[in-house]
Amino acid sequence: AEVLRLDGVTKSYGSGEVETEVLHGIDLVLEQGEFAALIGPSGSGKSTLLNLIGLLDRPKYGRLSIQGEEASQLEEAELTRLRGRAIGFVFQYHYLIAEFTALENVMMPMLVERGRPDAEMQKRAESLLEKVGLLQWKDSRATNISGGQQQRVAIARALAMNPALVLADEPTGNLDTHTADGVFELMREVNLSNRTTFLIVTHDPRLAARCDRIIELVDGRIVSDRPNTRT
Ligand code: ADP
Ligand code: ADP
Repeated sequence: AEVLRLDGVTKSYGSGEVETEVLHGIDLVLEQGEFAALIGPSGSGKSTLLNLIGLLDRPKYGRLSIQGEEASQLEEAELTRLRGRAIGFVFQYHYLIAEFTALENVMMPMLVERGRPDAEMQKRAESLLEKVGLLQWKDSRATNISGGQQQRVAIARALAMNPALVLADEPTGNLDTHTADGVFELMREVNLSNRTTFLIVTHDPRLAARCDRIIELVDGRIVSDRPNTRT
């Protein structure tokens, strides 16, 4: 099944005389279960593209659909709902809430959505923490665990709503090589066990080489999009 489709998507910043187009006619389809890397030099438009796909910003031209829902047809509130239901975000910095425990951080997206009994949310958050190997840290404050553990909590939180698509922007950029490998492996396991689609922005060629597909952006255009047969 198609999780994501972009047809001729463009994006500009500024307006009038200073308007600059930074994405030019992007076509891209991601199917369920794909594990894709998005690479390209700094300033090539990776973050901008991720913001559009994450429904945090709207294209200027072109069409963008998530799970068959065409984003330009949706009002702000519907976009927010689609984002919450379909997309999980992992950033370079984890953005955990320092005053909250690991468990409370993972429960956050479920609390925002509401409508579930507390016990059920807690059980789901615990099972997610178990999946990322941190169940014994569930009552620790976010600031009292290591950087790699914090990023694992952030991944568990991204999975809270069982999204079809996880967007990860330099998810291991702050971590040492060994810890980065562990976090990367975790995403791979989730991808294989849940068929969750991943789109991972990375500057690390080692990690890109471990994805199934490598999409390369240069100056706002996809210049290469190839399966990676080495995995
Ligand atoms: P990265 O290369 O890691 O994506 P950048 O330094 O390019 O990070 O951008 C960091 C943030 O600053 C992004 O959210 C981006 O949208 C914003 N940004 C980048 N360039 C500009 C700019 N010329 N004017 C305003 N914001 C910008
Ligand atoms: P990357 O993530 O690949 O580093 P970005 O998407 O951050 O690239 O940036 C692509 C281009 O858009 C760059 O030229 C950047 O300066 C520009 N840009 C990014 N965000 C903004 C913004 N908020 N306002 C103006 N220009 C921006």
